[in-house]
Parts: sequence; C-alpha cells; structure tokens
Amino acid sequence: MARLLLDGMLGRLCTWCRVLGIDTVFSTTATDTEMLERAKGEDRILVTMDRELVERCAKNKIRCVSIASKKTEEQIAQIIKETGVPIDFPNDMLCPACNGGMKEAIVEDVRGSVPEDAQSKSPRFWKCVSCGKVYWEGSHWRNMLKFYEKVSALL
Ligand SMILES: [Zn+2]
Repeated sequence: MARLLLDGMLGRLCTWCRVLGIDTVFSTTATDTEMLERAKGEDRILVTMDRELVERCAKNKIRCVSIASKKTEEQIAQIIKETGVPIDFPNDMLCPACNGGMKEAIVEDVRGSVPEDAQSKSPRFWKCVSCGKVYWEGSHWRNMLKFYEKVSALL
C-alpha cells in the first residue's frame, strides 16, 4: 500500500488524503534533504509541487508524485492514478488530525466528546485509536462525503 510524505506546502492536501484513507505525513520544517531521507527511510512516496525536489527524487531513486494542479480534489485524483492507492470512505478513514487508525464507536463510548444533539442524531461514530479524537456524521462529515464523491468522479 502506498504511503505518502507531503512537502510542507501541501498541508490541506494532507488532511484530505487521511480522510480518504491514505497513510500520509507531512512536515513544515523539514529541509529538502531531510524529506528525501525520510521518504527513503520510511518507504514513502514523496509528493511535492517543487520541481527541484522532483529532480532530486529522480536522482536518488525515490518515488515521487509531481503535483500539477492547485485544486485539492485534482491533486488527490492524480496521486491515486499514479500510485494506485485504493480509497474507501469512511471505512478506511484515518484521523485527519494525526494519521492514526479509526475505530467505529458506540454512543456510550463518545459521550463527553460529542455535542448532545449529535449524540441523538448521528447513527455512527468513529474514534481515533492514537489521539482519541471523535468524528461523527455531522455537517463536517457531509463535507467529507461530498469531497470523496468529487474525487471519485475524477477517477
Ligand atoms: Zn488522531
């Protein structure tokens, strides 16, 4: 399964990759050399809009996706096409905040982390196994679903 390392310019893309279930990390502070070493060390595909970094990947035989579009949904569609990584929302969703795995939870498990009205209205809840953040089928959820459909339409 393809895992990604995004360059620091692509923070928004990072969140959405995780939502769609792609194991993704990024750093805003790493130098180009550190990025190349991390991609190699953790066996991640480097994703960047930086031409120079793309050339250094080629020289060092590191897999790389050279992002062409400025639109997030088009960027993800390009990544999926070039790497063959499968997406499945919400079943494969990773925590948008920390890239941790998600587990479906019952309402009793998430009381205190979810607003009252969501507890009664939402049929499904997910909890991140590493940071404990809880997600449910609220308004933000609908945006995620819409985004998933937009990306699927481009594939
Ligand atoms: Zn998390």
